[in-house]
Amino acid sequence: APHGDFYDLMGTLSQHQRDVAARVRQFMETEVAPIMNEYWSRDEFPQQLIPKMRELNLMREIWNDDGTRTPDASVTEGVIIMEMCRVDVSTAVFFGVHAGLALASVALGGSEAQKAELMPKLLNLELVGAFGLTEPEGGSQVSRGLHTTAMRDGDAWVLNGEKKWIGNSTFSDLTVIWARDVADDQVKGFLVRKGTPGFKVEKIQGKIALRLVENGHITLTDCRVQEIDRLQNANSFRTTADVLRLTRAGVAWQGVGCAMGAYELALKYAQTRVQFGKKIGEFQLIQNHLVHMLGNLTAMQTLCLRLSVMEDAGTMKDEHAALAKVVTAARCRETVALARETFGGNGILLEYGVAKHFCDTEAIYSYEGTNEINTLVVGRAVSGLSAFV
Ligand code: FAD
Repeated sequence: APHGDFYDLMGTLSQHQRDVAARVRQFMETEVAPIMNEYWSRDEFPQQLIPKMRELNLMREIWNDDGTRTPDASVTEGVIIMEMCRVDVSTAVFFGVHAGLALASVALGGSEAQKAELMPKLLNLELVGAFGLTEPEGGSQVSRGLHTTAMRDGDAWVLNGEKKWIGNSTFSDLTVIWARDVADDQVKGFLVRKGTPGFKVEKIQGKIALRLVENGHITLTDCRVQEIDRLQNANSFRTTADVLRLTRAGVAWQGVGCAMGAYELALKYAQTRVQFGKKIGEFQLIQNHLVHMLGNLTAMQTLCLRLSVMEDAGTMKDEHAALAKVVTAARCRETVALARETFGGNGILLEYGVAKHFCDTEAIYSYEGTNEINTLVVGRAVSGLSAFV
């Protein structure tokens, strides 16, 4: 078992799930690890990973062609995300945006005909998906702050507005755009195909986290989308919220994997780096770092495993996913800081690996509901009192 699996999480999985995890681990070590620092420096997603991920065929471990989830999908997805993030969180975000947010939008909001057309193509990565919800003025207050408009015009809709932070959207084939129908004020989902006139994407430059993920700032100017490309079963923000609920557990697992990778790097470094004639791992203060990291990590793994078991059983509520996201993002932040500290000065160099985990944690902390917002979701559930207006 890898060092960062102290309580034998892998032992609780099926043989099939362990095989999937091993495939992902090998892919990350052989295909992603050798190129990730170069692409991090270039602020670019390595396009050559897409055909390789198509071969891995991971989407079908989670989704069926008809848009239903496989048995144990959430646990399997969690373990896939964990294994990706151990090496590179950006790769997991590419996967999460496509296999989580975009696929779930079609699966939950699409008609039978839309699912029949799109699910197989999304499942084998013939089409890459993106998910456009957040706007420059609408982050945490995502529903109320949603100002992009959709106006019906004959057989089509005309979209106008802006979307910010949209992962994969610089190259996606299909971008789900959530817009407000001016006629009934409801939020609806639109499938905007690559190259549609009026759909402009600018890459957000200069991120200090997740630099392999390409996030777009989208401008929609009289962008026409056919009625057949409106998600037929997404007729209010409720569907959008259902999609986000499905993916929040996956973001909690990102924190697990990111912390796991950082801990393993720190452990190895502590066992080899010599100062004062001793391996630094012999110093009690460094052992304290290691044990603190391992405690965090093990608690996060067991928490997320239970969360995903609940999700697969259909008993997971918003507040369950929100609590896991709050706890793992905070524990991950503490863990990667201790891991970085264990490396001394080398901890801020890209080539030692831990710096990337340190930076990526900041994105995990703030997206899919910031730590504050997820805290308030749990607070409302346990107290029966809402801090939201
Ligand atoms: P704001 O909402 O402006 O929050 C600023 C601060 O105010 C935060 O600390 C927040 O917690 C706090 N705050 C706000 N309201 C309250 C309150 N009521 N009580 C207490 N504190 C409050 N979106 C997409 O649609 N698609 C994507 O693919 C996508 N990818 C992303 C990738 C990255 C790397 C990042 C950083 C973001 C991504 N997002 C995406 C957007 C993301 O979901 C938002 O950034 C997030 O919801 C927070 O919104 P905001 O950044 O506007 O922060």
